[in-house]
Amino acid sequence: MILKTNDMIHEDCMQCGARLLGRSDKKFCDDGCRNSYHNKRNSNASRVARPVHRNLRLNYTVLSEMIDSGHDQAVLEELTLYGFTEEYHTSSYVNDEGNLVKNVYDVQYRIVKKGRIQFRRISGKRKD
Ligand SMILES: [Zn+2]
Repeated sequence: MILKTNDMIHEDCMQCGARLLGRSDKKFCDDGCRNSYHNKRNSNASRVARPVHRNLRLNYTVLSEMIDSGHDQAVLEELTLYGFTEEYHTSSYVNDEGNLVKNVYDVQYRIVKKGRIQFRRISGKRKD
């Protein structure tokens, strides 16, 4: 739908609720309200995302340190002591053998028998 500029659409400011006059595509009274609105939205998003990111980063760090010190598997319970949480991963798939394989960034892991976890880096080089 195309609105002509002289179509008077009365909307409320998305931040403070004040009645807006003028241009029909206006969403805020001024830059102050626009900035407050976006800041609040961003901080809500990061409040939700922060603990997830922290767990992903921790998983990545724990697995990376294992890989960098020459390991390709470990006892899952041991990794848990270092803060590894099996649930947090960036993607997953079921491989040809029917095993659930999880990725946390460029590290791949899967739970194998008897509480052991196998892992490997799937990219060529670690990017720091
Ligand atoms: Zn406003």
